[in-house]
Amino acid sequence: MISDYHTHTVLCKHGEGDVEQYILKAIELGFDEVGCSDHSPMPGNFDPQHRMSLEQYYSIYAPSVLELAEKYKDRIVVKRGIEAEFLPGQEQWVGGFVRENGFDFVIGSVHFVSEDGEEMPLFGREYEGCELEDLYEGYYEAIRASAKSGMFDIIAHVDLIKKFGHRSSKRIDELIREALKAIKASDLCLEINTSGLRKPERETYPGEGILKIAKELRIPLTLGSDAHRPEDVGTDFDVAIALIEQYADGRMSVFTKRQRSEVRISSLPRRL
Ligand code: ZN
Ligand code: FE
Ligand code: FE
Ligand code: ZN
Repeated sequence: MISDYHTHTVLCKHGEGDVEQYILKAIELGFDEVGCSDHSPMPGNFDPQHRMSLEQYYSIYAPSVLELAEKYKDRIVVKRGIEAEFLPGQEQWVGGFVRENGFDFVIGSVHFVSEDGEEMPLFGREYEGCELEDLYEGYYEAIRASAKSGMFDIIAHVDLIKKFGHRSSKRIDELIREALKAIKASDLCLEINTSGLRKPERETYPGEGILKIAKELRIPLTLGSDAHRPEDVGTDFDVAIALIEQYADGRMSVFTKRQRSEVRISSLPRRL
């Protein structure tokens, strides 16, 4: 079994292609499953440049995922997911949104860290100039809170913060371990997200240092390309599969209606 659980579309405004193009790419690669998990809408006019509106979700995204799942059901299993924000103060809204939509899986992401009480986005480079260790602290505290929130199944790109620079210290290592313990305590998965390999960081999210702790704590793993272009579906999955072999005994978690099961990961069906 092989699946890509993390894909976006043009609707998030920083991606390309529609749902069908992502599904067709996964079919072309011979994958068993593809998860549609674009950025969730948010209430009010929060961060509109990185997400679809609630109206677009209900009128375009949700119906097209359903319709295409049916259309291609003989060729691939299409799973209904979402990449939802963990944002302090919005838990109730996001929690309601994910409950109401009956997803197969919900990926929880921390894309905002509060700095002096203001939520700052991790999408761009707005954090340049602020103290890196403070940023790491705020980030891993948010990851831990996201794990405890009970809203998610999978914690996304758990070391995304490294895009602002690698930082290691006793305090940071402790924060990471605490965050991973919270993930385990809530019985959640981590994803191996290959998008970091396409970025200046040149390593998966998370990197192997964190995967070692995940293995020690027996945290299950899923697989996602975080594709923002259809051609990025399944990118670098040879690397990711080797990491699943090494850090999760070759077992990958899959979800149906938010129930997790573990399956043996297979090697790539076709040459990528
Ligand atoms: Zn995105
Ligand atoms: Fe993300
Ligand atoms: Fe994503
Ligand atoms: Zn993402």
